[in-house]
Amino acid sequence: MASTDRARVFSGIQPSGEFHIGNYLGAARQWASMVRDQKEELLFCIVDAHAITVPFEPAELKRRILALTRDLIACGLDPDKCTLFVQSDVPEHTELAWYLAAVTPMGDLGRMTQFKEKSENKDFVSCALFTYPVLMSADILLYKATVVPVGDDQVQHVELARETVRRFNHRFGEIFPEPHPRLSTATRIKGVDGNAKMSKSKNNSIATFSPPDEFWGKLRTAFTDPQRLRKSDPGRPEVCNIYTMHKAVSPEATCNEVYANCTQAKWGCMDCKKVLWENFDRELTPLREKRASLDDDAVRAALAKGAEKARATAKETVTEVRTAMGLGS
Ligand code: SF4
Repeated sequence: MASTDRARVFSGIQPSGEFHIGNYLGAARQWASMVRDQKEELLFCIVDAHAITVPFEPAELKRRILALTRDLIACGLDPDKCTLFVQSDVPEHTELAWYLAAVTPMGDLGRMTQFKEKSENKDFVSCALFTYPVLMSADILLYKATVVPVGDDQVQHVELARETVRRFNHRFGEIFPEPHPRLSTATRIKGVDGNAKMSKSKNNSIATFSPPDEFWGKLRTAFTDPQRLRKSDPGRPEVCNIYTMHKAVSPEATCNEVYANCTQAKWGCMDCKKVLWENFDRELTPLREKRASLDDDAVRAALAKGAEKARATAKETVTEVRTAMGLGS
């Protein structure tokens, strides 16, 4: 990775479920736009080491890593224009995490909201789940990234990474720059059952690359404005997940039409969903074609190239850290 004046951006995604439209609209679409712009140096990491902090199946994890990479490339993460790689292909992530753990107080980790949520009422809570934020700090700091695109649920982890930089630099010398969170401007898409979060495990998601009729099958049953019981009831687009999705994928004129037709009870929710489906289909068709053109060998080759690029920087940073900490012979 040649050093440039461009800001270095790091973002990660877990291979822990199907790639649903919440992932697409909430993250991958913005990443693809950053790749097109080429204003920053971009690293996108499939964070498989994070995925093993909760129960998992090895064969399924392997399958998901390849599938997710294929989906991301199809969305526009061109491996020639960004560094797309798998976290565990660069073992320096876990090595640096250990070194950073030595300057991270347990109390800080205990305060992490995500740990509390994920460990609540669980029979087994891994030590790795507790130290997850340290690995996330390592992911960012390994590349000295200064910008970290995240959803609001990850801001606390980036704040911890900033705190870690201050502690580390104070103790061992100025090695790391402070990273900054860049909050996603994309609206969060709710589950089709109205749940605040779309997720395959909750069976309320729409797979981005599901066949069009299957996509429609999920969309047509999706939860809308709960107060709109009959077509003659005026609706409230501002509380409706379908309108949120329209704002993400439909042209402005269509969104205005949706708003007017909904609030004046001029069309039913099924009419509204049909238009949304057509707009999704228009946007996703070229992506589906791109995805169909990628076989596993092409995906593996892209990941190998990404890991090689990432590792060159990762090794430099770890060498610097080991020297500063007095490690090694
Ligand atoms: Fe939602 Fe559209 Fe139905 Fe209005 S018409 S409640 S925006 S699905």
